[in-house]
Parts: sequence; structure tokens; C-alpha cells
Amino acid sequence: MRPNSYQQLGDLLVVIWDDGHESYYSLEELRRACPCAGCSGEPDLFGRLAMGPKPRYTPASFQLNSVVTVGNYALQPNWADGHNYGMWTYDRLRANCPCEECKKKPSA
Ligand SMILES: [Zn+2]
Ligand SMILES: [Zn+2]
Repeated sequence: MRPNSYQQLGDLLVVIWDDGHESYYSLEELRRACPCAGCSGEPDLFGRLAMGPKPRYTPASFQLNSVVTVGNYALQPNWADGHNYGMWTYDRLRANCPCEECKKKPSA
């Protein structure tokens, strides 16, 4: 599963997948669900738990400067407050699609 295209539309990130599915992510929810170790409190690749302070959000935290693709497997949002650690693998991004159709599916 890969995005065919993605673009920002107002306060949404619109992703069109290669199976034709369209996902509309609220920027705020996307940022709050940022998968980086600092935001999610999950261990990083080396098994260390991030000990940083809880994320503090400003209005700029929910604005996108840009989105870049990482390798062939992830999108990385560059947030206007300078935060750009969160890599959304395509699988994770698709699993977070907020549409009714996807929410009905049992999460794999
Ligand atoms: Zn983060
Ligand atoms: Zn969906």
C-alpha cells in the first residue's frame, strides 16, 4: 500500500492511495498522533525510552511546512514549529485513516 499522491488542503492532509482510497487526515490529529519517540513515549529503535518533556503544542504545531517522502516507505511531515521527527510508514498511515469505512475494519 502506497500513496499515489498527497497534498495539504486547508487543515487536512489528503492522501490518495494506489488502490484508489482517499484518506483525509486532520493536521491536528496527525500531529497529536505523531509516532516519534518523543511524542508517543515509545522506545526508539535502540529500545531507549524518550525521557523528554511531554510535547507542548502551539498553533504552529498543527500547521504543515511540507511533507517529504522517506525512502519508499514513509511520509515525514515538517511541522511549522520545527518538529519533524515523526515518520509515518505507509502501513501506519493507512491504518490511521479516519474514514468510516476504515474504522469499521478490525485493526490488523
Ligand atoms: Zn513527534
Ligand atoms: Zn479510509
